[in-house]
Amino acid sequence: MAGISGHATHASHLNLLEVTGRAATHVRDVADPRCVLHVRAAEGLIAMRNAARTDGIDLDVVSGFRDFNRQLAIWSAKFNGSRALLDASGSEINRADLYESALIDAILTWSALPGASRHHWGSEIDVIDAAALPAGRQPQLHQAQFASGGCFERLNGWLDSNMRQFGFFRPYATFQGGVQPEPWHLSYAAVSVPALEVLSLEVLAEALEGADMPGKQTVLARLPELYHRYVLAVDEI
Ligand SMILES: [Zn+2]
Repeated sequence: MAGISGHATHASHLNLLEVTGRAATHVRDVADPRCVLHVRAAEGLIAMRNAARTDGIDLDVVSGFRDFNRQLAIWSAKFNGSRALLDASGSEINRADLYESALIDAILTWSALPGASRHHWGSEIDVIDAAALPAGRQPQLHQAQFASGGCFERLNGWLDSNMRQFGFFRPYATFQGGVQPEPWHLSYAAVSVPALEVLSLEVLAEALEGADMPGKQTVLARLPELYHRYVLAVDEI
């Protein structure tokens, strides 16, 4: 059947605007926990939250869907110095020491390129255990909190044992050469695996070319390398 696309229409398949965060037609508001997600990921999350609750964990979402313009605002704030830049260990970096290309790598250690954030897909959630959050503390996502002795150690172990049966995995479980490990970041595979196939280098380049983004020319010149290191280099399911 040459000439006929092998991709059947499927509820979990995102179009080019959705996969780059330039449309929100694939996501909806979720009331509890309050967030915005793809409908299929929301079903998985709600089932997982109910199961966690029976084990005394209040699984809450700190961040779900994020659109292109929101990611562009994060990028621009880090690029322009109005938001702190952190190194791999979480210490603040002096921007004055960095050339533009090194600045771009420093941003990408913790934040995605606009158009390339997995949070655009509605399949990704950053989670905490609200029941384990020290009183009066704002949720901040640090690797130490999820490690032995951290306030989310129990959540971390619960996710290790249970998230897969609800369709989730950790794309940033281990360092793959680009993004730092993010034990709080979960991905709903039925949506995110097809989404990553849609997000080709060409699709990402097209999304960035139309954006008013600081550092754009350097990013576009390095895009094949950045795409492999920060988009494709993730942990498998
Ligand atoms: Zn995340």
